[in-house]
Amino acid sequence: MENSKDLRRWLDDMQLPHPLVIAGPCSAETEEQVLKIAHELKDSDVSYYRAGIWKPRTRPGNFEGVGAIGLKWLQKVKEETGLKTATEVANKNHVDLALEHDVDLLWIGARSTVSPFIVQEIADALEGTDKVVLIKNPVNPDLSLWLGAVERLHTANIKKLGVIHRGFSTYQKTKYRNIPEWQLAIELQSRFPDLPLINDPSHITGKRDMVFDVSQTALDLNFDGLMIETHHDPDGAWSDAAQQVTPDTLKQMFKNLKMRKETDEEAEYNANLSNLRAQIDVIDNQLIDTLGKRMQVADAIGELKKQRNVAVLQTNRWNTILGKMILEGEQHGLSEEFVLRMFKAIHQESINHQEKIIKA
Ligand code: PEP
Ligand code: MN
Repeated sequence: MENSKDLRRWLDDMQLPHPLVIAGPCSAETEEQVLKIAHELKDSDVSYYRAGIWKPRTRPGNFEGVGAIGLKWLQKVKEETGLKTATEVANKNHVDLALEHDVDLLWIGARSTVSPFIVQEIADALEGTDKVVLIKNPVNPDLSLWLGAVERLHTANIKKLGVIHRGFSTYQKTKYRNIPEWQLAIELQSRFPDLPLINDPSHITGKRDMVFDVSQTALDLNFDGLMIETHHDPDGAWSDAAQQVTPDTLKQMFKNLKMRKETDEEAEYNANLSNLRAQIDVIDNQLIDTLGKRMQVADAIGELKKQRNVAVLQTNRWNTILGKMILEGEQHGLSEEFVLRMFKAIHQESINHQEKIIKA
């Protein structure tokens, strides 16, 4: 992967709009449904029409996709609307069928990216294709697994390669279906600046009300495109009902989103600035999140101390922490004065939390 320069150019060569928009239902359900949504998306910012034909479901017994018949419906979409088509492939058979039916974009799902065996099987089946191939991040926040998949596909001589950031599963309860962990996408982007990076706000949020915000963050972070699940009757969808938006909502979203396009020096400056600011926002959110977690642990300590009737303030322990953090801080370019002030404030908040518990 030394020459990642080869990677991005295809987006420009194909003269695809910025941002690249991929939209359509989570799953192809019926021929009517597939065509109805496609016609509603025909005159919009959408370049690729997505529909899952084979659905990887976490638990068996849910709708597992219509299978190969759906590929015929996608062909009809292309004939009737001119939209290019996209679907997920998870094994050699899917790849062969999708190529046979001239699907324009194939993506590898998050549950496949976790498996090097599957990724290799797909890479071998796709060898040399000029179709667009996008690799979703693995379900777990493991950058090397994601990079490994990119390398396998790149080695299979796939020219139009890109990645989709769809968030990561976590055991914690969060407002997201899959936490974004933006820093992983940013890390991938900085290692391969020429690899097109698409955001999938639908699977990150799991909720249609949050799709706009995450899309804006992705654009601010300089993502190349968005994949957004779109359904004419979201609540009636056979899969991922809560996160799909209607074609009208999608169109309105693109009127409201602030696009970051680098056209001249001024625009480039602004794009760089908003990219950096978006990175700061991501980190600030992480800071707040981390501090919140620290206070939860402090609360647990407060409970323990209460049971044992132990004093809240343990000076020795506190001095040890402080000494360690000043050294750590130095290694991260933080001044002693700042580390002291910050930890005093954090410590005070912890004490307040524990006091509250002990007094309760
Ligand atoms: C999908 O795009 O519908 C899908 C199954 O996504 P993921 O692989 O990100 O879960
Ligand atoms: Mn889905």
